[in-house]
Amino acid sequence: MNIILLGPPGAGKGTQARILETERGLTQLSTGDMLREAKDSGTEMGKMVAGVMARGELVTDEIVIGLIREKLAAGGSGFIFDGFPRTLAQADALGALLEEMNQTLDKVVELRVDDEALVARITARSTCGSCGEVYNDLTKPIPADGKCSNCGGTEFKRRADDNEESLKTRLMAYYKQTSPLIGYYYAKGNHAAVDGLGEIDAVKAEIAIALA
Ligand code: AMP
Repeated sequence: MNIILLGPPGAGKGTQARILETERGLTQLSTGDMLREAKDSGTEMGKMVAGVMARGELVTDEIVIGLIREKLAAGGSGFIFDGFPRTLAQADALGALLEEMNQTLDKVVELRVDDEALVARITARSTCGSCGEVYNDLTKPIPADGKCSNCGGTEFKRRADDNEESLKTRLMAYYKQTSPLIGYYYAKGNHAAVDGLGEIDAVKAEIAIALA
C-alpha cells in the first residue's frame, strides 16, 4: 500500500506517518526530513536549500523529485509520502515514478485542520533529537523524566522554521501551490479527507477507516 498524507504544516502528517510506520510496517518518506538532513550534514544541496527552508518557501521540484526518485530506486513498497508531493508537477512526477515501478497510489489522505489551530500547534511543537518523535507542549508534552517515550533520548529540538513569520509563508505556499492537489486527487478518485483536529488516536482511527 502506498499512501500520501496531505495537509498544511502542523496538520499532523509526521505524527500519523510515524504511527502508520510502527503499526503497519510502512516506510515514511518525508522530503522535509531529507532536506533537513542534507542541511545539517552540510552537503552542497543542503547549503542551497537552507535559506529557502528558513523562509518557509518551497524548494525546487527538481530537487525534491530527485530525492524521492533516489529513495524509490532503492526498492521496496509500502510508502507513506509525508510532505510530498507539494505541487502539481511533483504529483505528476510521483505518478510516473510509481508507474515505472508497477506500483499504485492507493490513497491520498487529506488531514483537515483550521489555520488558528495550526499556529498554536506549530509554535508548541518539538521533536526528539535522536529518533524524531514529535511532541507538543499542549497535547503531547515531553515526559516528566525528560526522556523520549520512544527511544529514551534526552535532547529535544525545535525547528528553525517553526516561527510565526515562516509559518505565514509556509501556509501561503500550501494554499497557493499544494492545495490544488486536493482537486487533482479527487478527480483521480483516491482522495479521502479526515478531521485532523482531534486527539492523535481519534485521527488515527479516522485514517484507518479511510484506508480500509
Ligand atoms: P516539512 O518538514 O514537510 O514541513 O518541510 C520543511 C520545508 O522543506 C518546507 O517548508 C520546504 O521549504 C521544504 N520542503 C519539504 N518538502 C518539500 C516539497 N515536497 N517541495 C518543496 N519543498 C519542500
